[in-house]
Amino acid sequence: MDKLINVSYLEKDLDLEADFVIVGSGAGGGTSAEILSKAGYKVIIVEEGNYETSKDFDLKELSTFNRLYFEGATRPTKDKAFTVVQGRTVGGSTVVNWTTCIKTPKETLEYWENDLGIRGYSSDELEPWFQIASNRLSIETWEAHNHNNNLLSLGAKKLGWRYSSIPRNVKNCRMLGYCGLGCPVDAKQSQLVTTIPSALKEKTTLLYNTKALRYEWSENQIDHLVCEPAVYKTDNKPKIRLFAKHFITSAGAINSPALLLRSKLPDPYQLIGKRTFVQLHNYSVAEMPSSVFGFFGAPQSVASDEFLWKDGVTGRAGYNIEAVGAQPIVLMNLRKLVGEEFESYVKSYPNLHVLVSQIRDGFNDDSPGGTVSLNDVGYPILDYPLNNYMIDGIRRSYLSMAECQFAAGAKTVVPANNAVSPFSSWSEAKKGIESMTIQSPNTVVNSTHPLGGNPMGKDPKTSVVDTFGKFHHLKNLSVIDGSIFPTSLGVNPSFTIYAIASKLATHLGKELN
Ligand SMILES: Cc1cc2nc3c(=O)[nH]c(=O)nc-3n(C[C@H](O)[C@H](O)[C@H](O)COP(=O)(O)OP(=O)(O)OC[C@H]3O[C@@H](n4cnc5c(N)ncnc54)[C@H](O)[C@@H]3O)c2cc1C
Repeated sequence: MDKLINVSYLEKDLDLEADFVIVGSGAGGGTSAEILSKAGYKVIIVEEGNYETSKDFDLKELSTFNRLYFEGATRPTKDKAFTVVQGRTVGGSTVVNWTTCIKTPKETLEYWENDLGIRGYSSDELEPWFQIASNRLSIETWEAHNHNNNLLSLGAKKLGWRYSSIPRNVKNCRMLGYCGLGCPVDAKQSQLVTTIPSALKEKTTLLYNTKALRYEWSENQIDHLVCEPAVYKTDNKPKIRLFAKHFITSAGAINSPALLLRSKLPDPYQLIGKRTFVQLHNYSVAEMPSSVFGFFGAPQSVASDEFLWKDGVTGRAGYNIEAVGAQPIVLMNLRKLVGEEFESYVKSYPNLHVLVSQIRDGFNDDSPGGTVSLNDVGYPILDYPLNNYMIDGIRRSYLSMAECQFAAGAKTVVPANNAVSPFSSWSEAKKGIESMTIQSPNTVVNSTHPLGGNPMGKDPKTSVVDTFGKFHHLKNLSVIDGSIFPTSLGVNPSFTIYAIASKLATHLGKELN
């Protein structure tokens, strides 16, 4: 069997067989593929995206977004209140992510254990898996902060807030600052340069440009996976069928529930796609008196969790605060301006300082998450209305970010919200933000951290997979990716996914043995 198959060029039908078929090559899929192939299993990885490598990463924003992201990084929610950003390429979102690696907060894991009855996921039990992921992906605390991050530290320090340096999964990082466009020097230790090539040295085949359409199943097990080319380069319409002893869905939040829904899998309690979380991202832009050059250097290397648990785990929405890689496309999207206002904004670009807050969701009844359903052609749509709970979180996080930026010396601060103009002092900002209207489409929010939709748990009445990632209602299907989390995390999710995928794939490998 060829190691790499670009199905776009397939001339005829293809049937393949392996021990494991894994859908998706990102944080969950790549990690699982390496562990299972090193354990001696024959593995097929199915990836909808193209196989691009560092030599293809030209750092051009528009074309890269179209090539490496689902829907050009503009996948809208049902009411179009915000966009969800996910990678679609070999290596998944790990190829375009910003390398921030923060362990799951103990508060989140305690909530899973004490309130949701999930066992085996305490901080102590996960620690060995975090160590494995750290070693594999060279995750180390980063101290070479750019000025954008230093200003977050400065503001937090002046206000007496907690803040710390962030670990990153990089080796010999040249600090180009454009992590979201793929790393052209292979410093980022994404799945593209770590687990996938390592798996391919074993009995692994990678099918790329290959969309997993649906599982064919009967009685209590899956028979095969039906795929089609994501891009057709010939006039043929080949049928692709993949057979395996066990199937792993690692297509990420939104896409994994969509595959299960397209397959019409047994779902007696109608749970697939529900409880999809987004850790909504809100932005605040400050003009500093001197240059910030926030587009150079590691985009995120300082975080403050001062407000993450302030009102208790189940209280009002908590949020963390981080810096944002201030690339032109990011900054220009945050404010919708025309004419002279736009000109002066662009001229101030080198001095702009940008913060992001991520609101954790899923920890109380006011935050049930969104629902993934399919449109007429089987494509996933996330329905996630911004309710009062989230709007209160957005408002308070705008206040915190503005306070921090003024404490760090900002001349002006404006939330990424077109209902208001820049504020010139903290007192003015406080008054303005407290009374401003927060609603779509004025409020520019998005998510690069969709999670959940196939939540784990021990009770099939409230969860889609068990705490080993096994689908409750069929015997040869697992889900191993960010979709199995029963809540959002409160921090950037990749490190948690690497660790939990290592744990679940190792267990699965032993079990099938
Ligand atoms: C721009 C950006 C920046 C980010 N920055 C950070 C960061 O700094 N730190 C952090 O912790 N997290 C970050 N994240 C999030 C993090 O990368 C993801 O949470 C994580 O990669 C999700 O892992 P996953 O395995 O669930 O899915 P993914 O890594 O997204 O992998 C899923 C894969 O499945 C493929 N797929 C989907 N559907 C199908 C199908 N039907 N058939 C075949 N293949 C399919 C996709 O193409 C994709 O390759 C960022 C994400 C983005 C988009």
